[in-house]
Amino acid sequence: PALLDARDLLQLHASGTGPVQALRGIDLEVRRGTVTAVTGPSGSGKSTLLAVLALRERPAGGELRYDGRLLSGLGRRELQRLRRRVGWVAQRPAHSLFPQLAAHEQVAEVARLRGADDDPGQALADVGLEGRAGARLHELSGGEQQRLAVAAATTGPPDLLVADEPTAELDDASAGLVLRRLRACALRGAAVVLTTHDARATASADRVLALRHGVLSGEHRAGGPRTAAVDGQGRV
Ligand code: ADP
Ligand code: ADP
Repeated sequence: PALLDARDLLQLHASGTGPVQALRGIDLEVRRGTVTAVTGPSGSGKSTLLAVLALRERPAGGELRYDGRLLSGLGRRELQRLRRRVGWVAQRPAHSLFPQLAAHEQVAEVARLRGADDDPGQALADVGLEGRAGARLHELSGGEQQRLAVAAATTGPPDLLVADEPTAELDDASAGLVLRRLRACALRGAAVVLTTHDARATASADRVLALRHGVLSGEHRAGGPRTAAVDGQGRV
């Protein structure tokens, strides 16, 4: 069974000229142990889709099941409890980190919240930050913040790891470390969903989906045996 099961998801945003339909008729299943990459041009709805899947925004329409349970049936407390099991890497990584904590404390705090015994030193080493354990958020470069956000969010592991362009600011070596850390998170049982414009990230995913104007489709990848299958209804 899928960890996430979305049917006919719809999301609107208010704008000056009337509501913007950011997501339209999204059907999607996401399983544990897999890495799903979502591509699409700017404005296609990628960030909105991640916010809905990560239980950060409630969809305006459609059905979202998380671990078999209908999101619309969950109360605020229950939603908060589930969110603790969701790892989040924001497009601006600082938005998914604690502003006052040193790098190793960021990881330790996530481990504590999830009742896990991950070693913060190992998590930092996995993303090449072993020399930055004592650094605070404002002392880290954009690329370092991105790697730290991935190290922290993947700690636990979470049930679901959602990352918005997690390799956007990284050179090849760092991107490789981040993608390996995300894969390891999936191997520990998480469902990993990321958005990306980065061929390094799509190449390492189990399936690649394309979002256009809020509509999702499978994407064919040259030579890739792990391309998503789309059935007659366009369901991925
Ligand atoms: P992407 O991440 O692919 O760039 P987004 O999910 O950010 O796309 O945006 C999808 C659409 O929804 C765009 O037309 C965008 O302008 C609009 N949108 C997103 N967030 C908001 C918001 N908070 N208020 C108004 N419009 C928004
Ligand atoms: P990256 O390639 O990861 O983006 P940068 O070239 O931006 O790295 O930064 C190089 C070094 O300078 C890093 O070790 C980073 O931590 C440090 N650094 C960047 N910004 C700051 C800052 N505002 N305060 C202290 N150190 C910083």
